[in-house]
Amino acid sequence: MSLSVLDPAPNEATARSPKPLTEGRQSVGILIALWGFVVLPFAALLIAVPVAWGWGLTWLDVVLGLAFYVVGGLGIGTGFHRYLTHGSFKANRGLRIALTIAGSTAIEGNPTQWVADHRRHHAFSDREGDPHSPWRFGESFGGLVKGLFYAHVGWLFFRELANRERFAPDLMADKDIRRVDKLFPVIVILSATLPSIIAGLVTWSWQGALSAFFWAGLVRIGLLHHVTWSINSICHVYGERPFETREGDRASNFWPLAILSFGESWHNLHHADPTCARHGVDKGQIDINARLIWIFEKLGWATDVRWPKTDRIDAKRVAAGTMNG
Ligand SMILES: [Zn+2]
Ligand SMILES: [Zn+2]
Repeated sequence: MSLSVLDPAPNEATARSPKPLTEGRQSVGILIALWGFVVLPFAALLIAVPVAWGWGLTWLDVVLGLAFYVVGGLGIGTGFHRYLTHGSFKANRGLRIALTIAGSTAIEGNPTQWVADHRRHHAFSDREGDPHSPWRFGESFGGLVKGLFYAHVGWLFFRELANRERFAPDLMADKDIRRVDKLFPVIVILSATLPSIIAGLVTWSWQGALSAFFWAGLVRIGLLHHVTWSINSICHVYGERPFETREGDRASNFWPLAILSFGESWHNLHHADPTCARHGVDKGQIDINARLIWIFEKLGWATDVRWPKTDRIDAKRVAAGTMNG
């Protein structure tokens, strides 16, 4: 599979006009910068694992880290994103509360603020008003590097909070969600410290507690942050764009992050059809969040799931022959 390089966003007008949608490949410099953004942090982590194995990293750390990663990651993808933000399905009260708490353990902000920011992102994708577009500083090499950094993490430091009354009045009106919002600082502390408390009790040692605090606490939180942030940065610059999105919206499918993001990196389809419960709609596109929603539906906890409809999806495909390969 080739990682196609992006061109200005196709939209209905240009897709039907005779002008081609693409005009050559992106420069090597930009490709190097992009790969550096994805690969370097993960490579550093992969190198650290064997170095620390046996004295500073144990199976217990791995199991705890994985468990908390999965809860937080699915809480963000299924809970905050597909359920709370986009209403891809209806959940019973227990599931709604559980998903909202699970997403909070990812430490990406309280649920209502997360949703408000993300709805604002969809309202203004890659245009003025988007809280985190990598195209904010233009399309030059320097502008894009700056923009990628801004979309990835910089916006959090210079952030103007999206107006919750405007973008998330439904959540503000919900007593259960308001309660989780209030408890958010407590959930943050528990998410950061529980792995080390568990490991300390299991191993009955400070060394065990410390090592779990590092791997299952700090590294797990940092990794999940980078994966989520990569959806905002990488997935608006790099990857394939088989579906038509609104003018200027450059959301793309970036397959290398599909598993770590539990299916959130099929971001082009998501922007083309935001309420769809499955983002990886094509063959072979692993989407673990969609599988989880499917399980909730089977259990009777989730109803009215907006599964992809073939004709609706096909109507959004970029016309054959105009797609960037
Ligand atoms: Zn997006
Ligand atoms: Zn979204």
